[in-house]
Amino acid sequence: MEFVFFCAESGRTFRSRDFRIADNKGVKKDPYGNKVLDAKVILRSPCPYCSKFHDYKASELTCPFESEAKRLERQ
Ligand SMILES: [Zn+2]
Repeated sequence: MEFVFFCAESGRTFRSRDFRIADNKGVKKDPYGNKVLDAKVILRSPCPYCSKFHDYKASELTCPFESEAKRLERQ
């Protein structure tokens, strides 16, 4: 699965499927009542713009994890 990531250094977005998920605490509700996956997404290959290994909250990468949250909810 390919996600869209945001480089805070350069302000640009890029696509990558080279990442891993860490600190997965499952699906939680955010202050607005939306279901979000409480986990970290960490790049395994460096950012193409600044060469850092960014990490993100899964909830910041909304679209792909929304469907993941719905899938987990059904289990
Ligand atoms: Zn970057």
